[in-house]
Amino acid sequence: MNVPYSGRCACGAITYQCEATPIGMGNCHCRDCQRSSGTSHTSVVVVPSASLTIEGTNLQRYESAADSGTPVYRSFCSQCGSPLFAGNTKFPEFISIKAASLDDPSWFQPAIDIWISSAQPWCLMSPETEKFERDLPMSP
Ligand SMILES: [Zn+2]
Ligand SMILES: [Zn+2]
Repeated sequence: MNVPYSGRCACGAITYQCEATPIGMGNCHCRDCQRSSGTSHTSVVVVPSASLTIEGTNLQRYESAADSGTPVYRSFCSQCGSPLFAGNTKFPEFISIKAASLDDPSWFQPAIDIWISSAQPWCLMSPETEKFERDLPMSP
């Protein structure tokens, strides 16, 4: 991956650029990520919030409690509905970028799979990732 890297929602109303090397990359198989992504899991690139510049005015934010009880949010384009970002309100210094929204998602390389306790039988996980039954012990 080349820094900076960029991405956008499906309709292009929201674009972003990130100036930092990712802190981590992973897949989440919790039921909320399944529902909000429309498929078996969500794939995210975790970056420092300060390194991300978002352009566009119609970013919608939905907050809820994760299965673990942590307050989380998911951001999406209110015009086309594309999931773009997610995070934990307790750790505002980090933000997760939804991998498929990147202009070049091919460099995404997950190191972990979390919440595999609710993973779908039709989801093929890489044998190379570290697996966690639920959340990470210290999750951003
Ligand atoms: Zn859009
Ligand atoms: Zn999740």
